[in-house]
Amino acid sequence: MRALTRPARGVREVDCDALVVGSGAGGSVAALELARAGRSVTVLEEGPRVSTADLAGRSPAESMRRLYRNGGATAVLGTPAIAYGEASVVGGTTVVNGGLLWEPSATVLNRWAALSGYGGYREPVVGARFAEVARRLGMIVQEHGDGNEDSRLLARAAESLGWRWQHPQRVVRGCLHRNQCATGCPSGAKQSMALSYLPQAELHGARISPGVRAERIVHDRGVVRAVEATDTEGRRTRYRPRSVFVAAGPIGTPVLLRRSGIHRRVAGRRLELHLNLRTVARFPRVVDAVRGTMFTAQVQEHSALGILVMPSNLTPGGLGAALAGRAPHEVDELLSARAHLGMFTTQVRMQGAARITTLAGRAPLLRHGMTPADHHTLRLAFRRTARLLFAAGAVELLPPTSSAGPLRSEADVAAYCERVRSADWELVSVHGMASCPMALPERGGVCDETGRPHGFSNLHLCDASVLPGAPGISPQGTIMSFAHEIVSRHLEAT
Ligand SMILES: Cc1cc2nc3c(=O)[nH]c(=O)nc-3n(C[C@H](O)[C@H](O)[C@H](O)COP(=O)(O)OP(=O)(O)OC[C@H]3O[C@@H](n4cnc5c(N)ncnc54)[C@H](O)[C@@H]3O)c2cc1C
Repeated sequence: MRALTRPARGVREVDCDALVVGSGAGGSVAALELARAGRSVTVLEEGPRVSTADLAGRSPAESMRRLYRNGGATAVLGTPAIAYGEASVVGGTTVVNGGLLWEPSATVLNRWAALSGYGGYREPVVGARFAEVARRLGMIVQEHGDGNEDSRLLARAAESLGWRWQHPQRVVRGCLHRNQCATGCPSGAKQSMALSYLPQAELHGARISPGVRAERIVHDRGVVRAVEATDTEGRRTRYRPRSVFVAAGPIGTPVLLRRSGIHRRVAGRRLELHLNLRTVARFPRVVDAVRGTMFTAQVQEHSALGILVMPSNLTPGGLGAALAGRAPHEVDELLSARAHLGMFTTQVRMQGAARITTLAGRAPLLRHGMTPADHHTLRLAFRRTARLLFAAGAVELLPPTSSAGPLRSEADVAAYCERVRSADWELVSVHGMASCPMALPERGGVCDETGRPHGFSNLHLCDASVLPGAPGISPQGTIMSFAHEIVSRHLEAT
């Protein structure tokens, strides 16, 4: 049971069985499973709690500022700079994500087993966990419905080229096609953690504390003694849990470990990213790409190369952001032709990683080292995307380089790919992983197969940071499957 003890020098003290730091994809699994097992659970979440009504009542721009860390553009410095997006809210990044749920392939899991030196997270184990997550979240196959003409065009183009495509798997119940997934579903259809795992955890007695940030883990000889936290009013609390589950996300988790003097040299040394290229395509006929849900077709023909192509949900704000670097007359003309435009995302698995460093009292610094091989893959990925879009009937493409003019043929695309430099790519990333990987210490690992940082007994990590690498697919399903397995191993052992 939780017990309040006498405050010491203005610091409140709280006892609990389990303390979970972060309420996103990983933390919510820990909260629910620990609470279901009868543990007294407290969840600390730095961000606010927002309701569906709250999301419905705000503009997308307001929601971006309120729900995302750094307004949605955390800079990953390097050539070029990459804008990284993650949320800070009860439910974590699942509140603003697309609700896509993919299962990691046996090939990826086998590669990770070979890389990490651990064999416990192969297909049968992870597959069974994924099935559990899919069942609880009510995963569906999102077929074409009303709208989504851009997806239909992409699917038909893929078929004409003999390329593999698929309808996405999503965790939505009665999606109303409001097309606002990335700023928080205004109808409550998307089964984010805030509408699924967390309310269930609360029914089992878990207590969620929004606006509370874990500052430091106090430990001694591999045992966590306390976690110090501060709320938005500056009030300090010292939690004294029997076990701690850190799920502060791929940046927050290594930052908290480093600040606490835990595996400082390895935590955050390597943050893996998926990169997104954004291409605007003009079609001769009306596409009306704002109509529909996020997207209903993903082209997976080049997934072995880490390349996926799909429409982005076109919104006036998103289109404005994609065109922001272009000349005013060009922007005016494009906005007036909006009904004929589609916006497409090409996701690429990056080989060169980013690194997280922390300087006392400063925000974390992220730098990436994109390799020549990444530049090559980006060019290849853009070429394949362009081929697909021309096959879909596009007459003009605006590549992800604001200084480049429209491309009207494959010859134009080849010339662009010939002259584009690494610095010219306009890149965003919304998938970060593997910053505290589950691997043997001699293989650069931070934690073991129970998510425990090496040398610790009552501390576990259970979010995107523990994945041994980037899966090449949207990662929520993989993160939650790993988190279920980590918590289950903990419960079996205690
Ligand atoms: C626009 C967008 C679309 C996406 N679409 C998809 C998709 O469709 N499918 C998919 O699989 N993935 C998608 N993703 C990625 C996916 O949502 C994330 O990979 C996943 O949520 C990461 O889970 P996590 O538990 O590691 O971290 P998060 O879900 O980010 O949760 C971490 C939480 O910890 C909190 N926190 C951090 N530090 C502290 C601290 N010190 N104290 C207290 N709390 C703290 C944060 O505020 C945050 O709420 C998308 C991401 C974005 C941005």
